[in-house]
Amino acid sequence: MNTSQHPIAVLGAGPAGMAAALGLIKAGHPVVVYERYPQARAAGNILNLWPPPIKALQEMGVDIVDLGAPCHTTFRNAKGRVRADVRIPNDVVERYGGGFIGMFRPDLYRRMLAALPDGVLRTGRAVTGMQDHGDGVTLRFADGEAVETPVLIGADGIDSMVRRHLFGPTPKRPHNLHIIGGFTLDDTVKTERNVVVLTHNRTTQGTYTSIRSQGRAGHQWWVLEAWPDDRAAPADLLEHAERLAAGFPAPLPQLVAATSAENVQRWPIRDIAPLPHWSKGRITLAGDAAHATSPYAAYGAGMSICDGFFLAQRLAGVDLADTDAVTKALVDYETPRIPHTREQVQSAYVLGKVFHHAPAPLRPLRDFVLDHTPLLQKQVGERNPREIVAQLDEMGEGILSPRAAGRR
Ligand SMILES: Cc1cc2nc3c(=O)[nH]c(=O)nc-3n(C[C@H](O)[C@H](O)[C@H](O)COP(=O)(O)OP(=O)(O)OC[C@H]3O[C@@H](n4cnc5c(N)ncnc54)[C@H](O)[C@@H]3O)c2cc1C
Repeated sequence: MNTSQHPIAVLGAGPAGMAAALGLIKAGHPVVVYERYPQARAAGNILNLWPPPIKALQEMGVDIVDLGAPCHTTFRNAKGRVRADVRIPNDVVERYGGGFIGMFRPDLYRRMLAALPDGVLRTGRAVTGMQDHGDGVTLRFADGEAVETPVLIGADGIDSMVRRHLFGPTPKRPHNLHIIGGFTLDDTVKTERNVVVLTHNRTTQGTYTSIRSQGRAGHQWWVLEAWPDDRAAPADLLEHAERLAAGFPAPLPQLVAATSAENVQRWPIRDIAPLPHWSKGRITLAGDAAHATSPYAAYGAGMSICDGFFLAQRLAGVDLADTDAVTKALVDYETPRIPHTREQVQSAYVLGKVFHHAPAPLRPLRDFVLDHTPLLQKQVGERNPREIVAQLDEMGEGILSPRAAGRR
């Protein structure tokens, strides 16, 4: 059966799925996105994006003007002393509107949805099964319908059924941490503007960042601590967050106090152990389905958006009727993405361990090292910016103008 005239199917309308669709449209392929819920909805409010996803969004035709607050990031100790200063080069900051953009997650969805042509997103469509029959993939839906597609992108999140179909069960890895976060557009609390201030005391991370939402300035914040994965959530999230934030310098406690209870959410932190492959035949993975990561990386959505960019680069100009060419393009897509995302996932996991699971007697020693050696500066202050610049370079000029092969 020749399925090459059918649209590419993307499963899931999160950041990964929307980015894959936008990128593939830019690459000249027809695409349909199937989402199980009645609408594409942001699970949560807090979000920051590094320059590579901003570059990808811009290239995909997403309006990035005033998408969020351009922020400068520092890691500090509980007395406010800077332990690491994330130094993104000035030209990158200028070109992408900031080093780290603090935003309201639903705004990202609105902007990405606005860029999708009418008819691409099909909501209320839960996929229940799939089969790669060599020259195409058959997708089955909960209502019994079946459709054909030349390529299936599984962008269906951490519990991905596409991943399970390809590689069997992949257990989620509990970090035994939880994060409670919120936002407020009440702009009366006095803060440093355009900053991400990430502070650790002996047991807890307390962070606030500037955001902008639809022209209004505000803040998001989160507190993160060890919490057994199987333990029930605190009964009153805001009260619990206020108690944790009380151990941090101003303005974190004030920002938490200025937040309404309905704008506070909690997530237990889990990821999936890195996969050796993402693709088989005409099916591949993108986003959390491939590399669910801890918010310690603050890069899960960013990597998901970049997956869409690189996938589109690899499939641009590929004849979808040619199984070998499609298979090769998907392998070319995953080959550099797997080590890059694996490193982010692992380093986020390790940071969580170091800051929240160090045995109590070792914590003073850990904090002495972090306060008096350049370890954290080297790890997050300098390595992060290097990787960001390397990613920007790897992206080339755009989806249709990839970096020349062999250039580093
Ligand atoms: C507290 C917290 C803070 C974070 N902060 C940041 C940050 O600052 N920066 C950052 O870059 N990342 C951050 N992340 C990570 C980021 O949220 C995720 O990596 C990102 O949402 C993954 O996008 P995705 O599209 O892969 O998956 P998802 O957002 O999970 O989307 C998957 C979609 O697939 C749909 N779907 C699933 N199964 C089916 C099916 N069978 N049929 C049809 N549809 C289906 C789902 O309904 C959903 O819409 C954070 C995460 C958390 C929890």
